[in-house]
Amino acid sequence: MHEALQYRKNDDGSVTCSLCSHRCTIRDGKHGICGVRRNEKGTLSAETYGRISAEAIDPIEKKPLFHYLPGTLSYSLGGIGCNFHCEHCQNWHISRSPIEGARLRDLAPDEGVRRAVAGGCKSISWTYNEPTIWHEYTLDMGTIARTKGLGTIYVTNGYITEEALRDLAPMLGAFRVDIKAFTDDFYKKVCGAHLQPVLDSAVLARELGMHIETVTLVIPGLNDGMDEMDSLIRWVIGHLGPDTPMHFSAFHPDYQMLDRGATPVATLEKIYRRAKELGLKYPYTGNVYKPELENTYCPTCGTTLIERRGFASRLVALDGRQCRNCGETIEIVRNVT
Ligand code: SF4
Repeated sequence: MHEALQYRKNDDGSVTCSLCSHRCTIRDGKHGICGVRRNEKGTLSAETYGRISAEAIDPIEKKPLFHYLPGTLSYSLGGIGCNFHCEHCQNWHISRSPIEGARLRDLAPDEGVRRAVAGGCKSISWTYNEPTIWHEYTLDMGTIARTKGLGTIYVTNGYITEEALRDLAPMLGAFRVDIKAFTDDFYKKVCGAHLQPVLDSAVLARELGMHIETVTLVIPGLNDGMDEMDSLIRWVIGHLGPDTPMHFSAFHPDYQMLDRGATPVATLEKIYRRAKELGLKYPYTGNVYKPELENTYCPTCGTTLIERRGFASRLVALDGRQCRNCGETIEIVRNVT
């Protein structure tokens, strides 16, 4: 058994987990909402420590991360379980998998780092399912990874608590956070969660020095209203800064959300244009073939700095972090120390 961090023992034998904002109180023998943290006779067990469901070497652009080590490969790992229960989950086969009977392989933290380096990767991403619920494992692997000069990435729903995020701060380089909508109603109905803790963790991640990019899956009829998008973009500009890359991605029917069609390209184009009008420097579209809306342009002179085609990217006019044409400094991480 691998004892969890971030919980307290209660007098009645239950435990209260403080890893994510559900803050589950769990009776003996039971799991929390995420399905992978279990009370074993008054001790909280992190049941998926060192156990993986998926392993791949991906272009970092696939996360998507466009301003963190662009043009490099990221060693990517997933486990099982999730603290959200989104109706449209694209990875439901692992996020909703019960731990009993799950097909998992063992991978020690130091072996994960060795494989990342051997694979020519510049970073490790915990992705595919929610990394918050893999806290102790990512913390151990990430701490080793930093000693080898690797970047470290959470692809996350952002439901982590302040205390857990502070645990990660010494090792976590990038916080690629979903802001799935900008209403609490959406979070309650679609994800079984709340909006505010996500916003709070994004602000804290920035304060702690992590690189942040946001992703919003634009779902027809659920979160695609322009008033809502305006509010979201204004919030990001005001709280995370106008340099924050925001990705607006097309929805495709999946899992339990089959009652609506894919997001029209025109909707994403409209949001992209609106984000620029509001002063966001780096909006991007995703899940549609619109290379001109996935390139990075200098916000001062408009020069194309990075060209993207699918997950391939080419740095065409960046010297370090400077625009080659006008010298503007671009908010982008080229190296990690
Ligand atoms: S990580 Fe979140 S969902 Fe899982 S047991 Fe802890 S508080 Fe509950």
